[in-house]
Amino acid sequence: MKIAFHGAARTVTGSKHLLTLKNGKKILLDCGMFQGLGKETDLLNRNFGFEPKEVDVMILSHAHIDHSGLIPRLVSGGFTGRIFCTPATKDLTTVLLEDSAEIQEDDIRYTNKRRAAEGLPYLKPLYTIEEAKKATTHLTERHYNEWFEVTDGVKAMYTDAGHIIGSACVNIIVNENGKETRLTFSGDGGRYRDAILKSPDTFPRQIIFFLNQLMATACMMIIQQHQICCYAGLKKPVFKKRES
Ligand SMILES: [Zn+2]
Repeated sequence: MKIAFHGAARTVTGSKHLLTLKNGKKILLDCGMFQGLGKETDLLNRNFGFEPKEVDVMILSHAHIDHSGLIPRLVSGGFTGRIFCTPATKDLTTVLLEDSAEIQEDDIRYTNKRRAAEGLPYLKPLYTIEEAKKATTHLTERHYNEWFEVTDGVKAMYTDAGHIIGSACVNIIVNENGKETRLTFSGDGGRYRDAILKSPDTFPRQIIFFLNQLMATACMMIIQQHQICCYAGLKKPVFKKRES
């Protein structure tokens, strides 16, 4: 299995991590939009760094746009598989993606007015409201604390991340040629003893973690209890062995 970081590396937005199994199946963890990187932002959001139509299945950690915002582009680019998420994430993502599409359409209308005055060709929005609506039909609910099959030899289970409603850590077990690999994708984590949301739940003992830069800092205590972790947020992903 290979893991490639196509976002939330050296930044905290654009979360997109691609697992490629030995049998060629590709599993995408999150499909977030890059935000607030100036001129680079639009270019990053228009180029995935992989072929959407080659992705077999997607697992979404939570609804925030920096984790879900490019799902409509994934689907319009040829992705036809399921997108697993918790029931609350499905509801929230449906609302947020349509809202995001409205913003994309408004922004491009304004940009194109300026471009027309300068004699430049029109640009298309990242995605339209119609494309966002179509994309949400791929969302497939799975409940917390129940293992489910992702694809042949791969199962996953959501545990509550306590970050926003429906947010989850994604715990994955990959079986390849009789060898088992356990990994957890943190998504974004919440706080303990919050007034409204539940505290982050415990999750199974795993071998590999991947986190964005904020999460790597926030989760040091959790990381130290486990054998190896991978910080997606650093310049080069770092694999670190447990010290005790
Ligand atoms: Zn978030």
